[in-house]
Amino acid sequence: MQFRDLKKQYVALKEEIDNGIQAVIDSTSFISGKQVEILEKELAEYVGVKHCITCANGTDALTMALMAWDLKEGECAFVPDFTFFASGETVSFEGATPVFVDVDERTYNMKPEKLEEAIRKVLEEGKLTPRVIVAVDLFGLPADYDAIRPIADKYGLKILEDGAQGFGGEINGKRACSFGDISTTSFFPAKPLGCYGDGGAIFTDDDEIADYLRSIRVHGKGSFKYDNIRIGWNSRLDTMQAAILLPKLYAFIRYERDEVNKVAQKYTEQLKDLVVTPCYESKYTSSWAQYTIQLRSEEERDLLQKAMKEQGIPTMIYYPKPMHKQQAFAGLPFEDNDFTVTEKLCKTVLALPIHPYLENSELMQVTEAVKRFFGKI
Ligand SMILES: *Cc1c(COP(=O)(O)O)cnc(C)c1O
Repeated sequence: MQFRDLKKQYVALKEEIDNGIQAVIDSTSFISGKQVEILEKELAEYVGVKHCITCANGTDALTMALMAWDLKEGECAFVPDFTFFASGETVSFEGATPVFVDVDERTYNMKPEKLEEAIRKVLEEGKLTPRVIVAVDLFGLPADYDAIRPIADKYGLKILEDGAQGFGGEINGKRACSFGDISTTSFFPAKPLGCYGDGGAIFTDDDEIADYLRSIRVHGKGSFKYDNIRIGWNSRLDTMQAAILLPKLYAFIRYERDEVNKVAQKYTEQLKDLVVTPCYESKYTSSWAQYTIQLRSEEERDLLQKAMKEQGIPTMIYYPKPMHKQQAFAGLPFEDNDFTVTEKLCKTVLALPIHPYLENSELMQVTEAVKRFFGKI
């Protein structure tokens, strides 16, 4: 069994993907080919924003968003303590300070009350200027934007939606990657919408920011490629990756997101009385980048993982370490903030195999392994 079965997806979409790749080779338009432009149009339409700017990966997407706002030394961005490293790394990369915020125990996303507490604390200390809230849509579930947006407005902060895992999620029908002043996603192969290498995208309704991003991704270009009006860098999505993403996006829209939701629902039905299963209000839709359960203790979690491994079932621990404990962030202020929930989650979470092509027999194998562990069969 695969944790995320990319081969099964390829087999299902083989003809379209192969044809797409061959068309790029035939055209030899390997960089900035027409597939990139088509993909950007389709992505913007699906997400419901004016502009989509593709780039080389999700980390570049975050960095370019922060560059567009000129985030710099002496300023800070609020980042959940429970997320992938890049959500905070990019803030430090720009010379600014990430201030970590504890998360909600049931949604795994940034807890709005804790966010406001952290903002007030920074303002009281008076050393850093708050600028940005990096809201992460962890494991496919959009962050609580109904609560975060009013806080952003109250303190005059921008929202950067890190939708690397969130593509395809919704709140009341509004799609992920449309909640930030700038939103980003990643096409890393294992993400809800993945390519066959690295890739990323940035979404915004702001025309000026979109122009800026299109310029910096190609060496700060002006009116044409050899007119350079600012210092930029090189961060583009290959035409080949765009050609692979197009049929994958159509499949994601046609059935993949629905299928993965069915898998999640079955997991919850089978496991809800044994472990803590993912739980959120009905206004949300997840795209299930991960299906993450919670055990009662670190010991129980590690024993279950070991038992499942012995039965050939792959599981993962996302994430084993809080952001504020990463060595790379050593020496940051605000270490004394309260991260009780993140500390606990790092010890008790376990992600089960999930993807749109998970077969019923595989799902039964997983749930039976959990039931057996608890002596229920
Ligand atoms: C994967 C991921 C990223 C980085 O994306 P890459 O394409 O791998 O650079 C950023 N944030 C989160 C939350 C992620 O899961």
